Amino acid sequence: MMSRLGILITAGAIALASSAATFDKPMDFGPNNPFYAPSTLPFHAPRFDKIKDADYQPAIEAGMAEQRQEMRAIADNPAPPTFENTLVAMERTGQMFNRVMTAFNGVTGANLNPELQKVQDFEAPRLAAHSDAIFLDSKLFQRVAAVYQQRDSLKLDPESLRLVEFYYKKFVHSGANLSDSDKAQLKKLIEEESTLTNAFTTKLLAATKDAAYVTKEKDALAGLGDAQITAATLAAKDRKLEGYVLPLQNTTQQPDLDSLSQRSTRQTLFENSWNRTERGGPNDTHKIVARLAQLRSQKAKLLGFSNYAAWKLEDQMAKTPDAALKFMEALVWGATAKATGEARDIQAVIDSQNGGFKLEPWDWNYYSEQVRKAKYDMDEAQIKPYFELNNVLENGVFYAATQLYGITFKERKDIPVYNPDVRVFEVFDANGKPLALFYGDYFRRDNKNGGAWMSNFVDRSKLLDTLPVVYNVCNFSKPAPGETALLSFRDVTTMFHEFGHALHGMFADTEYPILSGTAVASDFVEFPSQFNEHWASYPAVFSNYAKHYKTGAPMPAELAAKIKKAETFNQGYAVTEVLAAAQLDMQWHTLPADTPLQKPDGFETEALKKTHLALSAVPPRYRSTYFAHIWGGDYGAGYYAYLWAEMLDDDAFQWFEDHGGLTRANGDRFRRMVLSRGNTEDLANLYKAWRGAEPSIEPMLKYRGLAEPVSK
Ligand SMILES: [Zn+2]
Repeated sequence: MMSRLGILITAGAIALASSAATFDKPMDFGPNNPFYAPSTLPFHAPRFDKIKDADYQPAIEAGMAEQRQEMRAIADNPAPPTFENTLVAMERTGQMFNRVMTAFNGVTGANLNPELQKVQDFEAPRLAAHSDAIFLDSKLFQRVAAVYQQRDSLKLDPESLRLVEFYYKKFVHSGANLSDSDKAQLKKLIEEESTLTNAFTTKLLAATKDAAYVTKEKDALAGLGDAQITAATLAAKDRKLEGYVLPLQNTTQQPDLDSLSQRSTRQTLFENSWNRTERGGPNDTHKIVARLAQLRSQKAKLLGFSNYAAWKLEDQMAKTPDAALKFMEALVWGATAKATGEARDIQAVIDSQNGGFKLEPWDWNYYSEQVRKAKYDMDEAQIKPYFELNNVLENGVFYAATQLYGITFKERKDIPVYNPDVRVFEVFDANGKPLALFYGDYFRRDNKNGGAWMSNFVDRSKLLDTLPVVYNVCNFSKPAPGETALLSFRDVTTMFHEFGHALHGMFADTEYPILSGTAVASDFVEFPSQFNEHWASYPAVFSNYAKHYKTGAPMPAELAAKIKKAETFNQGYAVTEVLAAAQLDMQWHTLPADTPLQKPDGFETEALKKTHLALSAVPPRYRSTYFAHIWGGDYGAGYYAYLWAEMLDDDAFQWFEDHGGLTRANGDRFRRMVLSRGNTEDLANLYKAWRGAEPSIEPMLKYRGLAEPVSK
């Protein structure tokens, strides 16, 4: 579960002058616009009672113009550069822009409508260009560099020193230090990369649509439930086809493979997925992938790095590809041994049914579902009455936070919201002082993005005298009017996860907004959230919330034990498929700049073999030619981060276990040394100072069940 975290100034790739769009008429922006001045509500909460859809665009445009002007004034300041007149001044810019963008990101993510969609489409490239322009401004860079050179003689406090280094590295990382001719070369590569990335996304979308499984025979879909059959009929209608269509999802494995009982259907559906971008024709992505890998290595070389991953990881906790590779290598044995054991269990089921065939990837989910049912048969209908939403929130999520950190919660009905389903809580510190506002938007809506995420409406900053306003968004099923909202255990875990991000945002206690809260490296950002998931099944927390919503009776121990045991089921497969994808990502992105164009299929086979991840029944979660995270998104050389953060959260939880578990002393120490610190210190050092050691992989192997002896 990856959350989206709103961070306004994005990683500034060197780029292109701001786009030259013009407006039909000047935008009307003045004191009547609710973003014009800071909100006068408690915590500067957004004025959702006053904000109209038409208010966003003029405020975004005025906000960008204002920040450009503020940055210009800093760059053109005739006074010699100082920490105050350059770095602190930069941190003070863009306050109006932030006000509107945080609210805009909130509503476009969770409460979109066609008018907002239009604004979003129009502004997206302009917003990207806006942030790029800041890190391209060579006059601004000269001033930052000048402060950076004298940083040791300035007697700065550690956070201020970190700010200087942060900005300097960000400018250099983006290419601000290059000669003009190298800058021009870099710009060309970035333009080509952006063109290829867009082409990849377009082709992948079309290829995925084209490769759907289509049949006129209902028998071929044997095993699917009524709802799935109806969905397949509707999907066919949508495409004006007769019969049934099973559209593909992004991953290699497809959800319907759990239940399709005809082996030939499973094989066809799987192969459609596996070969979606490998069929020649206009949507084949081989050439794009090969060139993207090559040009990224050339880009890295220009910026002074031996490969793209080295450039990309420079500001991550792992710091080097070598560290990420060593980490993944340490996981391989446990994961593949476990997967091999799982494969044996599955083969035994196939044999016991006289299947007469060898397990293939398209069989895995179908038979593992049977193994799961036999081992931990759990009826969702039996479990859900113990997980009533409000009870989970107040007596589970909030309760754990109170036990650990002493914070308390009081619902506030007077703070305006963007949708009536949103609830607002004021959060009080252990000493009774107001700490933050927390919004929970839990129910699915048609105009809400899928998944779950956390972000801020207001960042904590001592410099700007602001306290955090944070929100969680989820997609739980909304009950019919008068009915009770009941959750699955997966939903419960999601709620704890997103609240872990929220704590990271609410405990932020930093001077500078750019270093605040969740504004940390992507291989660290999921650590506090995944860590918080552990409390969901922690006995003292679980027994406090897992109570029947009608009778108040605690969940029977046998049922609770099944939930706990099911957590390690099929983890060999789950970790191996992610590892395989993460290794593909890293192998592609550690190619040196002089490597000739590669043939993706051969490269992939070789890469999996070389990294000991070529298991015939466990294909990578994404194949090179349809790996959207790395070619179409910003996760190039970054897919390992999911596993890396897991190492951290399990290792951290182990520390709690070793020190008495759920106690205020443990919580306060974690808050002081980790959660409140944002990005104010090198993250590897920060972690080590709290843990007293480098993160260890052992707890992850234990919690994932990968350290156990393989069955039989
Ligand atoms: Zn997350």
